[in-house]
Amino acid sequence: MIESDPIRNYLQYTQEVYGDTLYKSDKPEEPKQNTDSTKSLKEFESEINTCLKCNLGQSRTSFVFGVGDPNASLLLVGEAPGAEEDKQGFPFVGRAGKLLDKILAAINRSRENDVYICNVLKCRPPENRDPLPSEVELCETYLIRQIELIKPVLIVALGRVAGKTLLKLDEPLKAMREIIHDYHGTPLIVTYHPAALLRNSSFKPPTWEDFKWIRKILEGAG
Ligand code: SF4
Repeated sequence: MIESDPIRNYLQYTQEVYGDTLYKSDKPEEPKQNTDSTKSLKEFESEINTCLKCNLGQSRTSFVFGVGDPNASLLLVGEAPGAEEDKQGFPFVGRAGKLLDKILAAINRSRENDVYICNVLKCRPPENRDPLPSEVELCETYLIRQIELIKPVLIVALGRVAGKTLLKLDEPLKAMREIIHDYHGTPLIVTYHPAALLRNSSFKPPTWEDFKWIRKILEGAG
């Protein structure tokens, strides 16, 4: 297994998203409201990042825990890391990740600002196949613990596979959209995966409708 370097990976990621300029906010850093949750999330990551509970632990390059604000009100969940995520150690990188960043900017959020992003599985399935039920059964407890620590107001499952995996429903995405589901006591909605928008631009308008709704829910008006 190749150990990942989090600082180098992060710099590679920001270069990919923002180019060669390293941006630093002019705004003074606001103190975190709950540093305990930051610490707990980091402690939890270090407890589990050598997990070998299923076979994916043997084939991964990186353990992809998640990224973002540890006190986020919005938690975005994908199904599992892809090839680039496995390489870099961060979720939603590459073209789909850049598009997700643009969608978040349109609702005045970012990975660092009130959003946390992770996957159901923390290790990449070979050839990007769907997670197996046995893998989900072993790994989902980690996601549930992340949710307990982050305490989001809303979870958004990105894509049909993430939605059906979390909701244990074998439904098309359209049937899961526009409904507030419940995931272990936290409201959950399902929308398109950004990679699907890259493949088919007709998914962009409904996705934008979903994110306008997400913004309203987070503002307490949904
Ligand atoms: S996918 Fe989850 S359960 Fe399987 S090895 Fe990785 S962290 Fe452990």
